[in-house]
Amino acid sequence: MVHAINHLNETHQMGLESWVSSANGHDTFPIQNLPYGVFKPAGHQQARCGIAIGDYIIDMHKLSSEGLFTGLAGEASKALTDETLNRFMALSNNAASAIRLALSQALRIGSQHKNALTRALVPMTDVAMQMPCHIGDYTDFYSSIHHATSVGKLFRPENPLLSNYKWIPIAYHGRASSIYLSGTQVTRPKGQVSVDSNQPPLLKPTERLDYEVELGVFIGENVSPFDSVTMTHAEQHAFGVCMLNDWSARDIQAWEYQPLGPFLSKNFMSSISPWIISSEALRPFRTAMQREAQDKPTMDYLFCEQNEQHGALDIQMECYLSTAQMRQNKQPAKKLSQTSFKHSFWTIAQMITHHTVNGCGLTPGDLLGSGTQSGASPDEAGSLLELTAGGKQQITISDAEKRTFLQDGDEIELRGFCQNESGLRIGLGSVINRIIPNHSPQQPKATDEHFSL
Ligand code: MN
Repeated sequence: MVHAINHLNETHQMGLESWVSSANGHDTFPIQNLPYGVFKPAGHQQARCGIAIGDYIIDMHKLSSEGLFTGLAGEASKALTDETLNRFMALSNNAASAIRLALSQALRIGSQHKNALTRALVPMTDVAMQMPCHIGDYTDFYSSIHHATSVGKLFRPENPLLSNYKWIPIAYHGRASSIYLSGTQVTRPKGQVSVDSNQPPLLKPTERLDYEVELGVFIGENVSPFDSVTMTHAEQHAFGVCMLNDWSARDIQAWEYQPLGPFLSKNFMSSISPWIISSEALRPFRTAMQREAQDKPTMDYLFCEQNEQHGALDIQMECYLSTAQMRQNKQPAKKLSQTSFKHSFWTIAQMITHHTVNGCGLTPGDLLGSGTQSGASPDEAGSLLELTAGGKQQITISDAEKRTFLQDGDEIELRGFCQNESGLRIGLGSVINRIIPNHSPQQPKATDEHFSL
């Protein structure tokens, strides 16, 4: 049965208490969350699908041998014995819903399945998290109108927002093979940079390394080629979300982006948080789309009333920077910005609908990036490009340090969480990566002897 995208059920109830006591009041993984991930237990080579609860992970491979679940939940449980989430993601969201309900009930105080589940619990501290699924394709959108406007202002103060923006969800096709898990080091990329428009470009490590605060959206149920998804069905193909940092080299980007868009300035690395928060767990945090009265009407294929009323998601997104010096001095990370995904001009349903309108198929495990998320005020900006006005204004990080763009040793952490007015809170966890220098041999400096313009 397909419910409205904001339909709440017993798994969302505030008062639920688990016999996994660390889950009660947990700010990230309470019993109302139950996100999916893949992990290797200490000393094990084989990866397992897991579900987070408090400070523990349910080893779904181990749990399947207990044979607790039947029907759709049983089918879901069987798919979760793989080493990636892809087979589970390919099932309908109804299967995810069935295993969520079964586990929610089994984890509650008084459950008859407590002993069986206890045997499958692994402490989070004893595992190495893995990529959650095979990502076949990666598309990065540009859905934040505040980001698009403030970046546009840097280049076109008179006409910051291009005329197509309010009609079409803009995106480019990124590269799936360079998406890495939280914890992976970021090797400062090198590339062609034009330092002086009267001189030839140079090949060198980027001096304008930046992060982008984004939401990652995983596709679940397949969309067959030539089968365009309609707005009313789009959410069924959204399996869940994670935090995504779309690392960017602004100097490489500025030189290469015309006329075909971003390429090597983006595809050296994007990183994701390890847990996927299911679309169902996000339901209590749905909200109305935010559009200004003067915004153009939405084209019919991108419009449905349910999306207008409940299509946006209030997911708080925070960005923290810690420098090598701060860590040495035991200073806490500095918060650079906070915004909410609810300010996005386009919703997840609109991204999926638009992506398939031409007949482009989507595959379980495909990843959509939301694009950098920024709010209306300057301290809600989701990249250094905006926070420093294109590198023109330094920001203060500590008494001793300022930044325009990122330095070697800097660590960026993006954290996500949802909290509604009744106090229900779930977390997305975080994606954290540290920058290391590029040690590859340097090109000799270009001179007029070697190059001519
Ligand atoms: Mn991006």
